[in-house]
Formats: sequence, C-alpha cells, structure tokens
Amino acid sequence: MNEIAIYFHWPFCKSKCPYCDFASFCSKDASLYEKFGDYFLEDLKRSVAAIGDKHIKSMFFGGGTPSLMNPQSIAKILDFLSKNYHIKDDVEVTLEANPATFDKNKMQNFKNAGINRLSLGIQSFLDDHLKFLGRIYNGKQALKAAEIVSGVFKNFSFDFMYGYECQTETTLEQDLLRAVRFGCKHISCYQLTFEKNTVFYDNLLVGNIKQIDENKEVKLYEHIEDILKNHNIFRYEVSNYSMLGFESKHNLAYWQYDDYLGIGPSAHSRVTINKNKNEMVKIRDPFLWESALNQNKTTFSYINTLTEKEQLKEAILMGLRLISGITINDLYRKISRETVDRVISKRKMKFLRQKKLMTQKNIQLTNVGLQKMDSVVEFLLN
Ligand code: SF4
Repeated sequence: MNEIAIYFHWPFCKSKCPYCDFASFCSKDASLYEKFGDYFLEDLKRSVAAIGDKHIKSMFFGGGTPSLMNPQSIAKILDFLSKNYHIKDDVEVTLEANPATFDKNKMQNFKNAGINRLSLGIQSFLDDHLKFLGRIYNGKQALKAAEIVSGVFKNFSFDFMYGYECQTETTLEQDLLRAVRFGCKHISCYQLTFEKNTVFYDNLLVGNIKQIDENKEVKLYEHIEDILKNHNIFRYEVSNYSMLGFESKHNLAYWQYDDYLGIGPSAHSRVTINKNKNEMVKIRDPFLWESALNQNKTTFSYINTLTEKEQLKEAILMGLRLISGITINDLYRKISRETVDRVISKRKMKFLRQKKLMTQKNIQLTNVGLQKMDSVVEFLLN
C-alpha cells in the first residue's frame, strides 16, 4: 500500500532569530494564531486529492513556531483525517516547539490533541550562547522547557546548533550531555550557516561576526558523533542522531524520497498521482495564502510534473544525506531502471569508490564523501 507523510507549515514566530532564513514571519497576535490554526483544516480539505487512498504514516507540524498554535486546531485536523482517511496504527505525529511558548498545561493539551512526538528547538542550554543566537529565552527557561517536554512525552527530540565563535568542544559537550540526561533519544545538530537576507549575514559582511575556521567546524562535528555514540545515539543522517528505532519517520520520508503533502503557506509537496511525481508548492506569503483560501481560489502557487531525471536528482540529493545511503533497487523502483542506469554510470561509481568517497555497497558516502557531498552529487549527476 502506498503511504504518504503530511507536513503543516506554521508561518509565525514571536520574534525572528538573526540567522533564520525560513519562511517565518513575526507576530505576537494571538487572534492570528487562532485563525491560522483553523485555516490549516481548510487548506487540507482543498488538497486531499493528493492523499487519495494512500495510508498516512506521519504528520509533522513545523515552521515557524507551531507551538504557538491552539492545540484544539490540531485536534480538529487529526479528527478530520481519522474520519476520512486511513491513518497507520503506528503514525508519528510531531510538533516543533520553541521553549518560550508553552507551559506544562499547554504541552499536555498538545498530547491530548494527538501529538505523540515533540521536537524542541533548544539550540543550547547556556545563557551566553542563547544570547548570541538571538533566542528569546535563557538557559533556565530552556531547562524548564526540557523538563516539561520530557515529563509529558516518551518520544522527543532536541535541536542544537553548532559552529559559532563562543562555542567550544566543552560547551557543546555540556549541552549534549544535558539532553542525554533528560532521556533524549533523538538529537538534531545543525551547523550555523550565514544565509543571505539574515541579520547574521549582514553582520558577517561588515565584520561584526566571524565564521569559525573549517578545522574547528570539522572537530565540532566529529565531537558530536563521539559524544552521542557513547550514549547509544547514532548518526543516521548528516545532522540527525538517534537511538535505534527512534529515527524521525517523517524526515525519513523526505530522505527516502517518498510522497509527502505540504499544507500551509510556502509548504512543498512531492506527490505521485497517476504514476507522475508532482512538485506542488503553496503560496509563500501567509496573507496571500489566507486571501486565496477566503476567495475559494487555489492555494498552490504552482504544480509541476517532474521528469525522471529531475526525480533522480532529488532522490540522490536527499538519499545521500542518509548514513545508510540508497540502494540502486530502491531507485529503480521509485524512478526507472532505464533513467537510473543512463545517469549513474558504472564508470562514475567506480571512480568514486576508488577515491574512497563512496563505499563498496549501495550508493552510500564514506565519511570523507559526506564532507564533500555537494561535489559528489554534482559529479554523479552530470
Ligand atoms: S524560532 Fe525557528 S523558525 Fe522562528 S525565527 Fe527562530 S529559527 Fe526561525
């Protein structure tokens, strides 16, 4: 049976972090939160053709800061889906949360609404690190949030950021060990990057912030893996680590190039309809998206059927992020033998293996290959 993952993109945050280039907009207006929570259900009803008879294996409320939502809105969405579609028994329903946006009662209400996995954007437990990252809470509040989440949920994940000046191997270790002590079985560690149109990027240009050097970056990255594997938390994707069986089912759908439907402003989808894989993108601006909904117009900004070569490129780009890589048979099954064999030649694979960038099994990068992923992908596909 075909399966599908559903993503809901919540567009608002209480304030904009200086490094963030996500589609998130600042608003502290609680009436807006209320309204937009209900719009999700409307947008979903307009897009259900994409679900068809597929079984729903995961749902993910991301953003932005979806913990600003009213738990009731989530309960309504899950109620609608369970009455009209097939939801798998072991469905994973994740909510992303910012530590400054909930108390114990609200977290419990999210659980009662049907959330069974919580992803907490801690970033650090240390005051000076949080201040540098422009987060809207301090270390004490981060600890309190972690305590609430670990008290309410069995399955939860903490996000950290690494690769900035005031961070050392010691402070990174302190942060990760705190997460482990809370019983965290899944951890994401994202490298700080300086994206255009962010406050950090502007500061980098005028010399107010410095990028750390590549050696320190590699050391921190390796340090994360060393610390976590001592606690049976293993890297399974470039930036993600988990105990066995606690990998994010939803994110695996992206990396394994399975179907997913995106709901809410700017959400992306990859959905197979009549054997064609379609790229579908929702209107980016939340207020234009809202106005399309209110006027009964489509909320997609565009829909495009992908060629097999485009699908292969995406499948490789996503799949090589997984430490286990992708199998050629999986690519044959998802795309076509003819296209896969034409693009990924034996000669290229042999070359990458000789250079020790690719392992001998599957289409799987070595540790060195992972650090040069962009060039390997480019070589493989051109
Ligand atoms: S809370 Fe998350 S989504 Fe919102 S601005 Fe900060 S990093 Fe971006």
